[in-house]
Order: sequence, then C-alpha cells, then structure tokens
Amino acid sequence: MPADNTMPVDGRDSLEQLKVMTERIPGMIFQFFRSAQGEMSFPYLAGSGTLIRHEDKRLLADDASYAFERIDPEDFPQLMTAIERSAQQQTPLATQFRLRQIDGQVRWIAARAQPEHHDNGTLWHGLMLDISEQVAHEAHLRKLSDTDALTNLANRRKLMKRLDEEISKSNRYGTPLSLMLLDLDHFKLVNDTWGHLQGDQVLSEFGSLCSELVREEDTLARLGGEEFAILLPLTPQTRCRALAERLRQRIANHDFGISRGHVTASIGIAEHRVGESRERLIDRADCSLYAAKEQGRNRVIGCLSDTAG
Ligand code: GH3
Ligand code: MG
Ligand code: MG
Repeated sequence: MPADNTMPVDGRDSLEQLKVMTERIPGMIFQFFRSAQGEMSFPYLAGSGTLIRHEDKRLLADDASYAFERIDPEDFPQLMTAIERSAQQQTPLATQFRLRQIDGQVRWIAARAQPEHHDNGTLWHGLMLDISEQVAHEAHLRKLSDTDALTNLANRRKLMKRLDEEISKSNRYGTPLSLMLLDLDHFKLVNDTWGHLQGDQVLSEFGSLCSELVREEDTLARLGGEEFAILLPLTPQTRCRALAERLRQRIANHDFGISRGHVTASIGIAEHRVGESRERLIDRADCSLYAAKEQGRNRVIGCLSDTAG
C-alpha cells in the first residue's frame, strides 16, 4: 500500500487525506439538505466521478434538481416518499433507485443517510453505493427460481404468483380469466418405449409448441412431470376452449421424432368466478382434466358447471 495514500494515524494532514480518499471510493458521500419550503440541495458531495461530474457538484450545492432529473421516473415517487418519511420520523433514509449516469448508462444506486433536524429544514449525512451488479444478480436468481429447468417455461411457483395477481384483478374489475391444465396422455409409455431422454425431448418440444400459440400476457407453465398449465387473462371459457382445441390438434399432428400420433394431450379448462379462491379454480380445471382422461384422452373438457363448457 503506498504510504501517501493511507490515512495518517496521528491526524496530521487528515483533511487533505480525507479529500483524496473520498474522491476514490466506489460511491459517494454526501450531505443533502431539504428546507422547510421544500428546496433541496447537496451542500457536500464527494466520490466516484462516474456518477456526478466535478463541475456538477457546484450546481448541486445550490439546487438538487439536476440530480433528481436523472433518476428513473418510476423510482422518483418512492424516493420522495422515503425522504419525506425520514424527515417526518427522524429515522435513517434507506432506499434505492435507478440513476442515469453522465455517460447515459443506467445504474442502480443504494442510498443510506442519517437525518438531522434543523430550524430551517432537515440535513442528511449519508452515502450512495452503486449496487447494479447485486441487483442484476438478484434478478438472475429470481428468474432461476421462477423457471423450469427442462423447458425454460415458468414453473409451478411462478404460475401460483401469476394466478394470485390475475385472480385479484378479475375480482376487482370483473374481467374474465381462464385456466387450462394439460396432461400428456400415456406418457409413461413414451418413456418406456423410447427412453427417458427422448421423453425429456418430447416435454421440451411440447413446451415450445404451446408457447407458439399463447399470447404475451398469458402464462404458460410446467407444473411438474408431464403436466402443464396456461393462464389466460381477459379470456372467457369459450375463447379458451377454442384455443385449447387448436392446441390439442396441433399436438396430435406434430412430429415429435417418435411415431406420429404417439403424443397427445388431455386438456381441462375452467373460468374463474368472481370471489373464487385459487385452489377452487385449480380444482375445477383439474376435474375437467380428469373428465377428459375418463372420456378417452386426447380431448378438451370445460368445467361441467360452467356455461359453454
Ligand atoms: P395418463 O394418460 O393417465 O396421464 O398416463 P401417464 O402415463 O401420462 O400418467 P402417469 O402419471 O402414470 O405417468 C406420468 C409419467 O411421466 C411417469 C413419469 O416417468 C413421466 N415423467 C414425469 N416427469 C418426467 C420428466 O421430467 N421426464 C420424463 N422423461 N418423464 C417424466
Ligand atoms: Mg400426470
Ligand atoms: Mg399423463
């Protein structure tokens, strides 16, 4: 470690050393002031030149708006709320937001600051750190935990999340919502005849085939094994049924690399009823699927108690 870049232990020249050091840290330290009238400024700013240019620091010392203009509009309201809460309750500010850098790149920034009450406003002392890599890593992990490894489709966990979201919308606005459950017929036989690896290949291709027919707003998921589901927002059972029928025919006619006609699927569908729970909706779609199996497989059945089923 070069001797002239370290902090002196006896405090000599410490101010100069502190200045050198703060200009080199991978983040920023700051004082942020908000007056009783709501005017905001950064009386002190030091740190990474990629976030704020040296000449901008002088501007920001009088008016913070130049920095706020570079904050992603989606994150701005939440940042203002966090500042307000910290000032009102005199609790530490802890928030994160996207900031457009001077080179145009967008980075995720975490801010932590301690408020100090003054007669004419609040002064925060804090630091900002670039956490973009950490945020990207978290997004990657989230994606992994929501994805089925074999087919790359959404997994059961993700489908349950999407069901909760869409059921709540359907309850609030009374909009139609349909659920389709698909189960490959006699799939054990496919494995037994052509082997497990070929079976995996069929499952993967089955997923691709289905994804060609669904809309962007639909969620196609592999629930596990040879069972799949499609959640269709803004779709009544009649439309869901038409799509299921097209899908069924497409599967039956597709060449999966094993003799044609050996891969078929049974499909059960149900339309959400306002106020109905997630479990009840899944149960009804499952009953339809069971009926499709009972009636000979390779067919589509709507929930018997629903209209147009
Ligand atoms: P049914 O028409 O009644 O649905 O008959 P089925 O044979 O499809 O149903 P069953 O539940 O008896 O068997 C499901 C088979 O799916 C058994 C299992 O070996 C196979 N399977 C489950 N998961 C996988 C997987 O990840 N890869 C492969 N290749 N096979 C799987
Ligand atoms: Mg099954
Ligand atoms: Mg099956």
